[in-house]
Amino acid sequence: MPPPLHPPLSLRLHLLLRSQTLTPLLRRGSSCDAPLCRTRRYISVRASAAQLASAGVATAQQPELGVEEAVVGFVTGKRKATEVAHAVWRNIVQKGDTVVDATCGNGNDTLALLKMVADETARGRVYGMDIQDSAIESTSSFLKMAVGDERQGLVKLFPICHSRIEEIVPKDAPVRLVAFNLGYLPGGDKTVITVPRTTELALQAASRLLSSGGLISVLVYIGHPGGRDELDVVESFASSLPVDTWATCKLQMINRPIAPVLILLNKK
Ligand code: SAH
Repeated sequence: MPPPLHPPLSLRLHLLLRSQTLTPLLRRGSSCDAPLCRTRRYISVRASAAQLASAGVATAQQPELGVEEAVVGFVTGKRKATEVAHAVWRNIVQKGDTVVDATCGNGNDTLALLKMVADETARGRVYGMDIQDSAIESTSSFLKMAVGDERQGLVKLFPICHSRIEEIVPKDAPVRLVAFNLGYLPGGDKTVITVPRTTELALQAASRLLSSGGLISVLVYIGHPGGRDELDVVESFASSLPVDTWATCKLQMINRPIAPVLILLNKK
């Protein structure tokens, strides 16, 4: 018996976001003959279910983590920094918000953010950027597969450096969250990597854009050459923010010296 074309996970996401749409960029190159399309769709949806789970996007098998559970899980070595980050984001981001994924990569964080802002009012927006065209393509196809082929966009994707974030987010849109997942694209070109100078510029720009009550979330990978320099830059930026308007903190495993470090900057 052939496998079902629309497994429950795909259908649930599709229904959740049925009144939402993606930017035209996301619909590029979608033409194909029907039988091949169906095959691709089935394979893709199965792959995306695993990716959704690993991205920390809730599924029936893996419901959303609360902050308490995520932090206790992190402290006991059972949960990743990414899971803590997503749990904190869910407490800050509201339906209809404007948020930014400053490093789209394969689109895991972009989808998690889309889920947080999307509702029937279609006011929420996710601005995503990545310096690599291939990452934008990867995010685009992942989103298309996860939320279905819709008419307009809640997600706007740009193949640019995140230091130019202010050029793409509309001036009148208060930004609730800017997420950075630094380093290189998993499974991609390891020579294309975030670097301290543009990361610093992007953080400065993000801090100007962010609305009161908003959050800049930075996951810093320190296992590769240059990673610790980048951590230094992010920490020094976080330390420079005035205590009357910002609360900045860091989550880091001490006896796993190359585990990623989560830095959270909250604008009061
Ligand atoms: N959040 C992603 C993973 C990001 S990996 C996910 O969930 O899959 C880091 C990404 O940063 C890579 O895709 C890389 O291409 C991108 N990148 C590197 N330098 C950048 C820059 N200056 N501006 C924007 N993106 C950049």
